[in-house]
Amino acid sequence: MCFYDLLTYEIIPQETPNVIRNCSKCKRDTEFYCSEKFRVNANQKMVDVWVVYNCIHCEGTWNYPIFSRVHVNKINSNLYQKFMNNDRETVWYYAFQFNHLRKLCNEVSTNIRYELREKRLETNSNNLTIKFYCKYDFDLRIDKVLAEILGVSRSTLKKLELEGILMLNPKISMKKKIFDNLQITLVGKGLDFNVFHY
Ligand SMILES: [Zn+2]
Repeated sequence: MCFYDLLTYEIIPQETPNVIRNCSKCKRDTEFYCSEKFRVNANQKMVDVWVVYNCIHCEGTWNYPIFSRVHVNKINSNLYQKFMNNDRETVWYYAFQFNHLRKLCNEVSTNIRYELREKRLETNSNNLTIKFYCKYDFDLRIDKVLAEILGVSRSTLKKLELEGILMLNPKISMKKKIFDNLQITLVGKGLDFNVFHY
């Protein structure tokens, strides 16, 4: 049997969030998916940029405004090129702006498929450390991911935390959303609790 004492997890979403809003063709609130394409409209020197969303029922379009009537000189030329090339990373950046999207839509779906890319390392520590890396924020709860990784229930996690076996750094509630560089320590590698065997 092998014991690791540092586990890192990169949280990689597999899709962009869908949004709920009124579809003018369906004449009701429906779900829209991100087409992963920009629409750029240049009128004289004034530029409009949108990310194009489509209704899942009728393919009707909703344009998510990124820039409205902005002088072309005010847009970084690198960024402008990314709009023109439908650069995936740039589209995703805007597609994960939950706060902004929530102002424009009725709802933004947080139910996103994701992959946990795991690395197991040995550091000769008496404790087990779990570290998270996530580039995109989509309201993923800490206890949900931890329960998945450790293969235990959320109530067991709570028990481990109350007993001082499981500690969050920074010290925040497990109900909060996961963020980049969050670290979890399991004292004594959690071995007494039989939660972490390989
Ligand atoms: Zn529609």
